Amino acid sequence: MTHGFDITSRLENGRGRTGVITTPHGQIQTPAFIPVGTKGTVKSVLPESVRDLGAQAILSNAYHLYLQPGTEIIDSAGGLGAFMNWPLPTFTDSGGFQVLSLGVGFKKVLSMDSTNTVESDVIAPGKDRLAHVDDEGVTFKSHLDGSRHRFSAEVSMQVQHAIGADIMFAFDECTTLMNTREYQMIAMRRTLEWAQRCIDEHRRLTLEHSSKPYQMLFGVVQGANYEDLRRKAAKEIGELDFDGFGIGGALDKETLGTIIGWVVDELPENKPRHLLGIGEPLDLFEGAENGADTFDCVAPTRNARNSALLTAEGRFNVSNAFSRGNSNPIDTACDCYTCLNFSQGYLHHAFKANELIFPTLASIHNLRFTVRLVDQIREHMNAGTYREFKEEWVARFLTGRYAKKI
Ligand SMILES: [Zn+2]
Repeated sequence: MTHGFDITSRLENGRGRTGVITTPHGQIQTPAFIPVGTKGTVKSVLPESVRDLGAQAILSNAYHLYLQPGTEIIDSAGGLGAFMNWPLPTFTDSGGFQVLSLGVGFKKVLSMDSTNTVESDVIAPGKDRLAHVDDEGVTFKSHLDGSRHRFSAEVSMQVQHAIGADIMFAFDECTTLMNTREYQMIAMRRTLEWAQRCIDEHRRLTLEHSSKPYQMLFGVVQGANYEDLRRKAAKEIGELDFDGFGIGGALDKETLGTIIGWVVDELPENKPRHLLGIGEPLDLFEGAENGADTFDCVAPTRNARNSALLTAEGRFNVSNAFSRGNSNPIDTACDCYTCLNFSQGYLHHAFKANELIFPTLASIHNLRFTVRLVDQIREHMNAGTYREFKEEWVARFLTGRYAKKI
């Protein structure tokens, strides 16, 4: 079998599990953290280093690759993995989230809901709304050159098929906690209609290029923080012929585990579930124990570039004075290339001197830390020692020497 999902063990709560996702480019042991390579590169880190730090797959963004370099270039290079010299499994998201971000003019609050939200709340001063959504799809202006484009379920599938990732996501309308309940319902109906259209177009394209490796298609469950909407969306999307599912959209820290639980209880058990855009340590515990199998997030690399580094004893900022001249590694418990070979003092210097090696070394550490944490969660689930591991790990992270530094 070239693709599929097998469950290997279950947590006593009935939701969390370990498993194996099989793709044409290899297997992913789950739960697993998937680093983000937005434009076909995990920023500043060589693919070999991404492999060496234990990543089993990477996730790129269809929207960015569609605009630059364009999907024909990636297709003719043999697909995303061949193009970026990454031989292991790849994911692409649908572009829905990026298109939504354009709709809000780059302000912090995300909303496509022009009818129920005060425009000034969501559009930053001096910015135009760059995207408009309707029942058929989304029209948007490129953030690169202002050119006009239109994404629909069909276009998203054509784009993602040309990119050729092993796992793709259906085109959805990503909502946020800012939207009204009424608007959430409109977006949910659209997302469900688009889901079926994605499946139809995916089937057509799969037949059209049957000599290429099969690409799995995941449906996306939205519904913000409303229990009935989340359950309804999960049930309806779960009944469609998807290979797996994404859990997307508005999730706040306090309710993350609860919301994932609602969704997971409605989804078919035998298919993998990906938690979109989640990668903070405590959220990974919540996600995994409530039944999410894979996770992606830009946080480990983005934070690293901003000098915020993760350790078993909390997070700290290596640009702070206490790291100057410090001969200890970032984290004495870490086995990454950076921690084995460089001191905190060196990283502090490289950051202050604006050296290009800084984002590379910092990203390797934060990625290894996050990948390893989810690997440990998986190992302890398999061994039946998950509860003890979590209790000890979380206590150390929340009360350790760096717990109050950020
Ligand atoms: Zn490290």
